[in-house]
Amino acid sequence: SVKTNGKGGYQFYEAKFYNALRDRLDREAELRRAIEGDEFLMVYQPRVDILSGMTQSMEALVRWQHPERGLLEPAEFIGLAEDTGMVVELGALVIDKVCAQIARWSEHDAALVPVSINVSPQQFRNGDVGSVLGEALARHKVPPSLIELEITESSVMDEDAAVSSTLSQLQKQGIKILVDDFGTGYSSLSQLHRLDFDVLKVDQAFTANIETSAEGMVFFTAIVTMAHALGMRVVAEGVENLAQVRLLRTLQCDEVQGFFISRPLPAGDSQPVLPPRTFPTAYGNA
Ligand code: C2E
Ligand code: MG
Ligand code: MG
Ligand code: MG
Repeated sequence: SVKTNGKGGYQFYEAKFYNALRDRLDREAELRRAIEGDEFLMVYQPRVDILSGMTQSMEALVRWQHPERGLLEPAEFIGLAEDTGMVVELGALVIDKVCAQIARWSEHDAALVPVSINVSPQQFRNGDVGSVLGEALARHKVPPSLIELEITESSVMDEDAAVSSTLSQLQKQGIKILVDDFGTGYSSLSQLHRLDFDVLKVDQAFTANIETSAEGMVFFTAIVTMAHALGMRVVAEGVENLAQVRLLRTLQCDEVQGFFISRPLPAGDSQPVLPPRTFPTAYGNA
């Protein structure tokens, strides 16, 4: 019904523009309703020590239980949440859910490992994440030592004094700060030193590269050497096979996370830590 010639062509583009706009507004309204109605749940992916196989921490990853479209991964909604600022509210919801979950696990389990929470830059800039977290911990009677925060490289490198003072206050309470997706931004390890992080999570692209290229090995080795010199533990993200684990052990990487170790797991009544395991070396012994 849309004409594509002359003046009609103009109308065609106008119609496309309005359809795209309406679609975007619909998706925004839907996400807003989902946050208000709490259609979200968390899954938990273990992060293990490369030598002992002991679970060090569980990373909380958000999922949207959409009424019609099923369980949605962050790729389908985190971008929109960030563009609209809704990630501040969603982030507060995530923090509350994780603290509530830790409180439930603690009724079953005598000892828990910490949970790491992914935090968007906006939660620091516009969200007062320190207070939000402090209140959630108090509400659910959870000790701060059971929380870690994952912050992407780009968000912490903005030379933002407010962010770094929030981070050091959190660290003083026993909350570990992790740099997420390291290697995807533009920072150098010397910039990281200034901010005094606890753990460096190397992006999965670099894990994939150690198997496929000599440069990949060299690069990973350089990261590990410098991170250790700065007092940080190193985690390889996206570990998908045993060959990678063996190489990472040779490269002195401290911890591994990825589908080979475990997929993200549902919460359950008890915290879904893995049984300790050792990874066979190339010679067959652990
Ligand atoms: P991330 O923090 O780097 O999390 C790792 C992502 O890689 C997760 O995807 C995880 O399921 C996936 N992954 C883990 N191991 C492997 C592997 O071996 N191979 C491959 N190919 N992928 C693996 P997910 O859950 O879809 O999350 C994607 C991103 O969304 C996260 O990246 C994080 O940046 C963001 N995100 C997740 N949950 C939250 C949240 O609660 N708040 C905020 N602000 N962002 C979140
Ligand atoms: Mg993460
Ligand atoms: Mg990551
Ligand atoms: Mg990543």
